[in-house]
Formats: sequence, C-alpha cells, structure tokens
Amino acid sequence: MKKYLLAPGPTPVPPEVLSAMSLPIIHHRAPEFLPVLDEAKKDLQWLFQTKNDVMILVSTGTGGMVASVNNFLNPGDKALVLNGGKFGERWTKICQAFGVQVEEIKVEWGYAIDPQTVKAALDKDPSIKAVYMQASETSTGVAHDTKAIAEIVKPRANTILVVDAITAIGVFDIKTDDWGVDIVVTGSQKALMLPPGLACVSVSDKAWAMADKAKNSKFYFNLKKERENLAKNQTAFTSAVSLIIGLREALKMMKAEGLENVFGRQQRLADATRAAYKALGMELFPKQSPSNALTAVCAPAGVDGQQIYKDLRVKYGITAAGGQDHLKGKIFRIAHLGYADTFDVITAVSATEMVLKGLGHPVEFGKGVAAAQEILCKK
Ligand SMILES: *Cc1c(COP(=O)(O)O)cnc(C)c1O
Repeated sequence: MKKYLLAPGPTPVPPEVLSAMSLPIIHHRAPEFLPVLDEAKKDLQWLFQTKNDVMILVSTGTGGMVASVNNFLNPGDKALVLNGGKFGERWTKICQAFGVQVEEIKVEWGYAIDPQTVKAALDKDPSIKAVYMQASETSTGVAHDTKAIAEIVKPRANTILVVDAITAIGVFDIKTDDWGVDIVVTGSQKALMLPPGLACVSVSDKAWAMADKAKNSKFYFNLKKERENLAKNQTAFTSAVSLIIGLREALKMMKAEGLENVFGRQQRLADATRAAYKALGMELFPKQSPSNALTAVCAPAGVDGQQIYKDLRVKYGITAAGGQDHLKGKIFRIAHLGYADTFDVITAVSATEMVLKGLGHPVEFGKGVAAAQEILCKK
C-alpha cells in the first residue's frame, strides 16, 4: 500500500532533501562542512525574520524548549505560561523541572489566549521574567496571537517573550525582530521538511542579558556555548552533519519559493481543508483563530474519532493524527504544513469521505473534495 504522511510532525521530506542527506558523511570540523553550516545559519535568519543568532541543537523541538528555560531563568524565578493545550502544558512542566515558579493563563482547549489577560497578569506581577507561549498549539489546531502578545511584552525591560513556533515558523508570519520576540523555537520535523533531530532557537540581546545571570545547570543545552561555536560555523558537540546538509537544502527550496509564497500556499491548503470538512457537515475543533499548520476536525456524533484516524491508516495508508488526552476519540487532525500541496489535501479529504462511508456515516462522495477544489484551483 502506498503510504502518505499527513501528521503534524514528522512531515514528508522532499526528494531533493533526501538525496542531499544521502551523500557520504563529512567531518563536522572539516573545511567542507563550514560553508554548509554558514549557509544554513544565514538562511535560518531569513526564515526566522531576524538578525539574531539562530542556534542549531541536536534534539527534537522539546530540547529547544528546554534550552529556552534553563539558559535564561533561575530556580525561584517567575514565569507566565500561556496554556491552551498539550504543548502549553509542556512549558509548565519544563519550567517546573528547573524550579521555576509558574503562573498559568489557561484557556479551554480550542480557544486562543486573550492578549489582554497577558497584559493584566504582567501589570499585576512585574517580577515575571518570561512569558512562554505557542504560536500554533498543535494539539488543538489553534494559533495564539503572537504579534499582539509581543506588543505587550516588548516594552517591559525585565520580561522576555519565548515562543514555541514549532508549527508556525515556515507556515505563517512570525516577524521575530519587528515584533520583538525574544526567543523563537522550531524543530526540524515540521515545516522545515526534515527528519526529526534538530531544534533551532533564536535569541535576542534582551534575552542574552538575562542568560548572563542564569545559574541553572546547562551542560548539553548551553546556548552561550553554542553561540560561540556558531560564530565559527561549528556546533559545540558533533554536528548532525546529514541533517544540517538537509536543512541547507530545505531552506534553499523555501527561498526559491519565497516566504510570501510559502505562507500563501499554507493559507490556501488550510482554507481548502477547512472548507472541505465544513462541506461534509463536520465541525472544526478550533472555536477561534485556526492555525494554518493543521486542521483539527470534530468526529461526527456517533463516530469514534480514533476510528477515523485508524481507518485512514489501515485502509488507505494515510498517517494523520488523532486527539490527545481528553480529545482522544473526539477529534482527528490533518496536517498541511511543510512539504504539502494541492493533492495532499485532496487525498486527505477524499479518504475521509471513504472512511466515514465505511463507518456507516452518511456521506455524499465528492462533496468535501469539490469544496477543496474550488479553493485549490485558484492557485
Ligand atoms: C512537535 C511540537 C513540539 C516538539 O515536539 P518534539 O516531539 O520534541 O519534536 C513542540 N511544540 C509544538 C507546538 C509542536 O507541534
């Protein structure tokens, strides 16, 4: 059976990237490697829309999140976590693992954080040193308003804004420098179109100043040490040579497409997917502000969402995603970030129609597909 990967990470890797990564391994301190890292780091700055250094860590995205806590905060420091889902929860757990005191702004899954609540929390407690949030909460398919929250945090000299943009960078606009986002994290297996294994973290001057005073243990995830090495086109430990060669290739492809066009494609795919499921009479899970990275869809009444996810995989070779925690069985998630295009959406929607029919749910074949086509043909 032909396989299709339509999960919100890992995502498909383009053939150009796969073939670049299949070349014989070169040594990470050898002269041939230095220009590769040089190009990748500069193109990452382009993608992150920043002049700040973007450190490349050998880890999954969570390693980048960990580095964004232990390098900047001390035990006993206060952090404000904006928690709207599974990944918001992760910020709280990481902070607590390093003895950071967490105050949470929690919203029900499916909702976006109201920036005014962030302002109120910071006004009330100016000792909060960092605000941690997701630009795109992958567990619910909701995008939080990074720009509005950045406007609130930026003027506060003693507070930094840390954004998990793991399903946002390369999907929709995150103006790191213009908006004044201090730390931005992404991971390789999402919109970067790479296998899992790299985390990329940009750090502003305001955050570096805080790092100078941070005493938490940091042997492996030591961003200052990584920054010193990056200046020499090296990493502190052995570089993930093949992944960085792949990263350079993926960034080259994104540059050739152009950032606006990448965002435009992601928007079109998201619009088409939403329209398709609505046309099938299904409800989208986000109550507001859906992310363009993926579409979370509510299972119709009487249909087990987990069964939709399973049948997509078992019957049609499509790996999408189910719901997490209390959403298990209630929703399924179709990703359209990274190396995705028109027919990935068509595949997902037409297979969902067939799966629903197989589960005894009334479906008019082609109704979802047609709604997607209306949008996709306007390319
Ligand atoms: C994928 C993802 C992560 C990182 O997960 P890893 O398994 O560590 O790569 C973090 N935040 C969000 C929003 C994600 O989508």
